[in-house]
Amino acid sequence: MMKKIAVLGSTGSIGTQTLSVIEEHRDFEVVALACGGNTELLEKQMRRWKPKLVAVWEEKAAAQLKLSTADLNIPVVCGMDGLMEIAVFSEVDILVTAIVGMVGIRPSIAAISAGKDIALANKETLVTAGHLIMPLAKEHGISILPVDSEHSAIFQCLQGNKGNKVKKLYLTASGGPFRGRTKEELRHVRVEDALKHPNWSMGRKITIDSSTLVNKGLEVMEARWLFDVKLEQIEVLVHPQSVVHSAVEYEDGAVIAQLGTPDMRLPIQYALYYPKRRSLSGERLNLFAQGALTFEQPDMETFRGLPLAFTAMQRGGNIPTAYNAANERAVAMFLDHKISYLEIPEIIEAAMEECRFIEHPGVDEILATEQEAYEFIGSRW
Ligand code: NDP
Repeated sequence: MMKKIAVLGSTGSIGTQTLSVIEEHRDFEVVALACGGNTELLEKQMRRWKPKLVAVWEEKAAAQLKLSTADLNIPVVCGMDGLMEIAVFSEVDILVTAIVGMVGIRPSIAAISAGKDIALANKETLVTAGHLIMPLAKEHGISILPVDSEHSAIFQCLQGNKGNKVKKLYLTASGGPFRGRTKEELRHVRVEDALKHPNWSMGRKITIDSSTLVNKGLEVMEARWLFDVKLEQIEVLVHPQSVVHSAVEYEDGAVIAQLGTPDMRLPIQYALYYPKRRSLSGERLNLFAQGALTFEQPDMETFRGLPLAFTAMQRGGNIPTAYNAANERAVAMFLDHKISYLEIPEIIEAAMEECRFIEHPGVDEILATEQEAYEFIGSRW
């Protein structure tokens, strides 16, 4: 029987690549799609895939889409209720969470509780609510399949090693466009410079996050939850070629890594078809042409976003939420030319300090912490 899939964030970078993987194999039925406001693309996707339900965050855009697609007879729902409807839609077997932001938390929790497997791209879900999500997934016996390339790599390196003790997880990082620069040299970085990622093509926010190493910080937090390891077992390894996507070191000293060209469609496909590997079009890794693979320590002094993530995770509770929310706001302000590049980690640190500590936050408290961080930043910057 064809597996049935829903994609939250189908118009984004991960969402469109997910649909392109599905297009290649054509053995999934796309039953639901959701976006924020890009109804032009969503309409095209509706005409191509004929889903049974779609959600648009913005109410007005949803109403317009309903009119322009009246001939299709597909229900169009909106807002958080709309996302929740998709999350628990009885037709869905696997939910791809390719939405950006903390808005992804509630639908993920609802989908897990309804027994759906999750192909997880949305970073904010585990960073802010990993302590709620992981036990819930266990309780409902569902799989959380990582889509992010680094976590997918680790997940692939763990296959066939059940019961073997993991010593270390190596999370690789390209180092971004500013690798090797000093703090002084970063003082006058422009938006255009930060948007130039050397190896991966991604959405705007995540590209900035890669340049500040905040993206790696978020991934460290995610890895801690996904693979149930101690924070001290996670090592960030700067690897400018982005060929080794991450690695696992076992008790006996063996290090198993996953290599490939930088193409998000591979980890997406692995999550969708796990544990099967399928053919996939695209460039192949040519190790002869590749040349040297190099590795170095991250510069924690210049790229403060990374050590701050370790601190946030060590403090735990709602501090990772403060970290994430502050970064989200700071990046938006940087993209709007309202703050300088180096103010991004400053804002994160200030919000982590300022935030009222809650040791075991529930979803409401996580979302309240997000608001608290936004208000604090609004009042100071
Ligand atoms: P994009 O900005 O490209 O896409 C975001 C998607 O989410 C769009 O479809 C957008 O719709 C939708 N969306 C935004 N807000 C809402 C909302 N309130 N309700 C419904 N849909 C909404 O982001 P990416 O694809 O780059 O990233 C998505 C997630 O995956 C992020 O959490 C990111 O950190 C993570 N990730 C991304 C990777 C990448 O290579 N890009 C790699 C690993 C993880 P619209 O187009 O209408 O605005």
